[in-house]
Parts: sequence; C-alpha cells; structure tokens
Amino acid sequence: MRTIGLIGGMSWESTALYYKLINERVRDRLGKLHSAPLLLYSYDFQEIKEMQYAGRWTEAATSLSEVALRLEGAGAGAIVLCTNTMHKLAPAIVSSVSIPFIHIGDATARRIRTKGYRRVGLLGTKFTMEEDFYIDRLRAHDLDVLIPPADERADVNRIIYDELCLGVVADASRRRYRDVMAALVDRGAECIILGCTEITMLVGAADTSVETFDTTAIHAETAADFAIG
Ligand code: GLU
Repeated sequence: MRTIGLIGGMSWESTALYYKLINERVRDRLGKLHSAPLLLYSYDFQEIKEMQYAGRWTEAATSLSEVALRLEGAGAGAIVLCTNTMHKLAPAIVSSVSIPFIHIGDATARRIRTKGYRRVGLLGTKFTMEEDFYIDRLRAHDLDVLIPPADERADVNRIIYDELCLGVVADASRRRYRDVMAALVDRGAECIILGCTEITMLVGAADTSVETFDTTAIHAETAADFAIG
C-alpha cells in the first residue's frame, strides 16, 4: 500500500473521523488486519483560526506548504488536507510538493456527478460559502452551486467554529441547519454538500429530504483508495 500524508487538526474533531473512516475503508476492502499506512501532521487549530480571521493567508500558505513537504520527505505518496476551508491554499501546496494532492472538492463533485445531480446546495464556513476557491472548483465539474443567504451563512459558520470544532453537538443547531437545508431545497437544490468536515457530526441523511454528500467521508474514502492503489 501507499502511504497517505494527512494535514489535520482543523479541527482535530474531524481529523479523528478521517482516521477512523480511512482505516475502516481499508479494512472493508482488504480484510484481515489491514489498515492504512499514514502520516499525520496535526495543527494547533487556534493558530490557524487566528490566521484565517486576520486574513494572514500568505503565512498560512507557507506553513501548510512546509508541512506538506515534510510529509513528502517522510514518505507520503499523496497529500490529504483534512478541511474544506484550507483548500483555499491548495494551489500553494500543490506547487510545493511533487506528490499528488487529493482535492476534497474534486472528490465530492465527482461523486455528485455520478449520481446525476447538477444543482447543489453548499454548507460550510463563510470562506467556503462566500469565496470563489471552492465554488469555482465545483463549477469546473459542471455543478450549479446555491448558498444560503447572509443571516443563515453567519449561523452556519458560527456553529462550526463555536460548537462543532469544540465537539459540541446541539439540538438547536441541528434544527437551524435543517431549516437552512430546507430553504436550499425550496430554491431548487437537488442535493446538499456538507462542505465542512465537522458538519457530519451534526446533520446527515435524516435531516433533509434530498441526498447529502459528506465531504469528510468522501475524502477519506478517496484517500483510502489511493493507499490501496
Ligand atoms: N473543518 C472545516 C472545513 O472543512 C472548518 C475548519 C477550518 O477552518 O479549517 O472547512
């Protein structure tokens, strides 16, 4: 098997899910006691959050690129960045290493296209929902992307950073997400992208009338399949 290099800790709550999901996928596909060879660099997320909110993206890009290079040097055969938001810096990482970068947006969009959907509702951090880097990546796969209105985006973003990244899963927040998803479906969304790696802790298939696409699970499965080769 090939070794996967994970850049995680953003937050560690979702990185823990990646670790479990990757190993479960390898076990399910290969049987016996097989598990995934992997390297993990786990950030102090407070430092990352401060860079995000202060707009210190160049500094963050330098840091993530250095970590990717260290993982490559330690034997990783591919880089897996365990957060949607920090894919804003994917181009910097890609240009700093010579191994493949497994993009969470590509993996998710391909899965959605195999199901035949075109118009998707996107939930994520404010960076993921409001900036071009993620939506453009989905559009490149011929997807139409709907995002919630500003007040709903603010709640979706707040619940991610103030609750889910701290392991807090609240019923009131689940109800809010359900309403936000229902409104996206009313506007024509054929499916919903859980475009933040912690959202799967809060909502899933039972919380909306359309299919949900869990970026954490899709990315983890894609990484495991790379390891298996
Ligand atoms: N894990 C989240 C994501 O998938 C948000 C945390 C972060 O800002 O990286 O976007």
